Amino acid sequence: MDLYEHQARELFEEHGILVPRAEVAHSAKQARESARRLGGRVVVKAQVKTGGRGKAGGVKLAADPAAAELTARQILGMDIKGHRVGKVMLAQPVDIEREFYISYVLDRAAGRFLAIASAEGGMEIEEVAAERPEAVARVPVDPAEGVTSAKAGEIAAAAGLPPQTVDVLVRLWEVLVREDALLVEVNPLVRTRQGQILALDGKVTLDDNAAFRQARWGAEADAHDDPLEARAAAKGLNYVRLDGEVGIIGNGAGLVMSTLDVVAGCGARPANFLDIGGGASAQIMADGLAVILSDPSVRSVLVNVFGGITACDTVAEGIVRALDTVRLTKPLVVRLDGNNAERGRAVLDGHAHPLVEQATTMDGAARQAARLALSA
Ligand code: GDP
Ligand code: MN
Repeated sequence: MDLYEHQARELFEEHGILVPRAEVAHSAKQARESARRLGGRVVVKAQVKTGGRGKAGGVKLAADPAAAELTARQILGMDIKGHRVGKVMLAQPVDIEREFYISYVLDRAAGRFLAIASAEGGMEIEEVAAERPEAVARVPVDPAEGVTSAKAGEIAAAAGLPPQTVDVLVRLWEVLVREDALLVEVNPLVRTRQGQILALDGKVTLDDNAAFRQARWGAEADAHDDPLEARAAAKGLNYVRLDGEVGIIGNGAGLVMSTLDVVAGCGARPANFLDIGGGASAQIMADGLAVILSDPSVRSVLVNVFGGITACDTVAEGIVRALDTVRLTKPLVVRLDGNNAERGRAVLDGHAHPLVEQATTMDGAARQAARLALSA
């Protein structure tokens, strides 16, 4: 699970990384009070679990407590990439001289961690990485050896970071290890005009397998800014909302990802990612359909299932029973393949729901779902 910036900031502070003084506010009035306590001039920052807040207008400077209240009023409730802003962080502004980028991320394929660092951090880091990859250093980190001062020196040198960042690199590794994180990122890490090194923004992804010993974040970290994601999470569904019009249900993360690609290839946009996994019971199907159908952007739904251990006829029966409890309001295209596909198709044919149609290939199903979504 991802942490909010203010939670990441708290962890950095506990591990001795310098951060600006800051407070969290849930209302514009609270923001005004916080700004007063922080000395008046503040940066107001949307707290949502997505990047690019600066470019979306979710990071703004306010000159005094009254301005902080106004700015907080604008930012609270804002939609940033589908995340509704429910709280803001107010931070003491910093005089930035330079912006750097540093992160550690698990490299599953290599069985190691990777330090990624650049002397050109800030909001353009994606462009820098795409256009001038040589400006972004990637240094493998052996998890057993970790990041010692020597290793941190190596990372800083590879990225062209000033020697003062070595200590932060060591401490950031401690955050990763102590907090059971899969990713820790600071962008920007800044050098102020006064010569201090400060973490101005943080992203931390915790390893859910370690949740039992990281109970501290509890429900707060699990909170979803998107109401549909919150509802799906409450049902135990592996659902991520996207901004398209074709609802997607599939079994297996890889198949669902491919389905998203194929739908996009047909000129439509997927409305979500939903992996119903191996179980694919009627209950899961009903819960998944209910969440997807309540998304007002959805115009058609594509169910793409490859029967393996769970046979297609079981999935088809699940769909039929789900349609007893969920009122289908949008066309549903079903593609069943693999184990017992024929029997599964016969089950759906037998049910003959006017809004349900079948396709035999993934491409055919995606084309049909896209066509229905775009003509609706
Ligand atoms: P992101 O866009 O979601 O990554 O949000 P950030 O927290 O990284 O903020 C975006 C940008 O706002 C940073 O790259 C900084 O350039 C700028 N910014 C954030 N805090 C301050 C601050 O205290 N002072 C100044 N001058 N700029 C800031
Ligand atoms: Mn940032």
